[in-house]
Amino acid sequence: MAVRLNRRVTLAARPVGFPKESDFALVESPVGEPGPGEVLVRAHYLSVDPYQRGRMSEARSYARPVELGDVMTSQAVGEVVESNDPRFAAGDHVVGQLGWQEYAVARGGTLRKAVPGAPLQASLHVLGTNGLTAYFGLFDVGRPQPGDTVVVSAAAGGVGQVVGQLAKIAGCRAVGIAGGPEKVRTLVETFGYDAGIDYEREDVSAALKDACPDGVNVYFDNVGGSVTDAVFRRLAIGARIAVCGQISQYNLEQPELAPRNLGALIVYRARAEGFLVSDYAHRFGEALPRLARWLADGRIAHTEDVIEGIERAPEAFLRMLRGENRGKQLVQLL
Ligand code: NAP
Repeated sequence: MAVRLNRRVTLAARPVGFPKESDFALVESPVGEPGPGEVLVRAHYLSVDPYQRGRMSEARSYARPVELGDVMTSQAVGEVVESNDPRFAAGDHVVGQLGWQEYAVARGGTLRKAVPGAPLQASLHVLGTNGLTAYFGLFDVGRPQPGDTVVVSAAAGGVGQVVGQLAKIAGCRAVGIAGGPEKVRTLVETFGYDAGIDYEREDVSAALKDACPDGVNVYFDNVGGSVTDAVFRRLAIGARIAVCGQISQYNLEQPELAPRNLGALIVYRARAEGFLVSDYAHRFGEALPRLARWLADGRIAHTEDVIEGIERAPEAFLRMLRGENRGKQLVQLL
């Protein structure tokens, strides 16, 4: 019988500065056999995320780097082909850290079933890491009160688009910051933000003054750098800053000197707190049904940017880092 082949995208080189397609390699190897307690999954969608840039580097972080020659780490959603775990059967749809590959063997305990009734790929955005990050970052770290002004950076992206809509559900005023007029239009027209700011073309400080006359009560920071500097100057007394990501710094060979504006925390008696969505894993069961209900009711809209073919995963990753993604960046496997 012919050996079934698995195409995988591996890390070929550690990037210096902005990554290149040649930092990745497409390799073939036989599809693995699941051992006791393991499950063989055929992936349908791969996730493409900013944190993968950190895994390509050996710099100290909250997780180990991907080794050269290893498959790129990523979440994926797919279908169980064979299961040696009684909790899963062939045909079940599951989500897990399966990597950029067509087939993965995973321990059953590391998988969760995709939310039934929702589109499969939603388990990689609204009903996955993006939605969960938005939920816990906003509600637990940002602690919004009705009437608060919530400002979100990278507001049109996978996480940001959910944060703005959760802020509206919480009775807040939502102001999004994104790159380019098309994204800013989407913020208001699709995601219900009250105002959008184009950080590439506008004076962010002046635009924030107009959009947040009473200051910023909650800042959900996805980018860091000069955008964050401008928001810090507009904080309201007692503001909360949920430090989710710092994507403006991820590809710099010499990160900018930061934090630059800690004095603002004193002036405004504000609190800045970093968080990791994985620390809330024990509470995903609380958030997912609520996110699923809001998605089904149409209270959470979303956009996804789908590229087809595993060989194009590196291209999808680079366009996301360049800000060319229109919503959650995914790779669909054919
Ligand atoms: P995303 O927003 O869908 O895509 C990344 C976006 O970042 C790009 O579309 C671009 O949007 C923006 N960007 C890229 N380079 C930038 C720069 N130099 N300055 C400002 N903005 C830049 O990605 P995502 O998956 O939703 O992730 C958003 C953030 O959340 C990232 O920082 C990520 O690391 C973080 N995150 C954190 C956790 C956690 O547990 N803490 C979990 C998931 C994600 P514009 O065109 O609008 O600039």
